[in-house]
Amino acid sequence: MGYQYDDQNIFAKILRGEIPSEPLLETEHALAFEDIRPQAPTHVLVIPKGPYVCYDHFAQEATDAEIVDFTRAVGEVCRRLGLERSGWRLIANAGADAVQEVPHMHVHILAGRPLGRMLE
Ligand code: 5GP
Repeated sequence: MGYQYDDQNIFAKILRGEIPSEPLLETEHALAFEDIRPQAPTHVLVIPKGPYVCYDHFAQEATDAEIVDFTRAVGEVCRRLGLERSGWRLIANAGADAVQEVPHMHVHILAGRPLGRMLE
């Protein structure tokens, strides 16, 4: 089963500049900006610029250059925000069971408060 990318999703509109955003970081293949409904004092979304529905789609079909650039962009956001001091969490929701709201691959960076144990 192939992945069907819907280019009318909200992050595609942000990438096309149809919806304004204030990027924290822009690289050749990635964009980072604050989540509109923050779940922590720091809540940043990092998205690839390419048309990938979710993490597994990205991992399967993105080029090595896109994957390296995206991975480094996540690290660079952490470095710029000084997140190594207190720690941070990286989350990727994919598909229905994870309640992925926006069908454009993204990861959440959460920090700035104790985040609790996720898995017991
Ligand atoms: P998901 O559940 O798909 O992993 O998370 C999507 C995230 O995108 C949510 O945390 C939601 O608050 C955020 N979001 C939805 N629409 C917008 C928007 O227009 N701008 C920004 N900055 N974040 C958005």
